[in-house]
Amino acid sequence: MRRTIIFATVQILALKSFLCFCDSVQRIPFPKNFIQICKKILCRLFRVFVHVYIHHFDRILLMGAEAHVNTCYKHFYYFATELNLIDRKELEPLVRTEQDTHDDTFTC
Ligand SMILES: [Zn+2]
Repeated sequence: MRRTIIFATVQILALKSFLCFCDSVQRIPFPKNFIQICKKILCRLFRVFVHVYIHHFDRILLMGAEAHVNTCYKHFYYFATELNLIDRKELEPLVRTEQDTHDDTFTC
């Protein structure tokens, strides 16, 4: 998991493309592979969620942090799926969790 976070951080820091949003003076264009890089980062971050839910959710429950983690995942899920940044088949490991987070009884 540490490698995934390091990968994402390095990608974001290495890409000046993420500065395109803020740099209205220089007007740096997005690189052609910007979407692919975003997809790869999100795919790897999704694996972090899978790892947390499968291997550490008992600890999260002990800390009473499940609503926080579920909310983080919910935001991740809606962002990634709304913008088609992650394949639905990649999300299959957490299908049950997605159903739980879409449940009307879910509390944030
Ligand atoms: Zn772990």
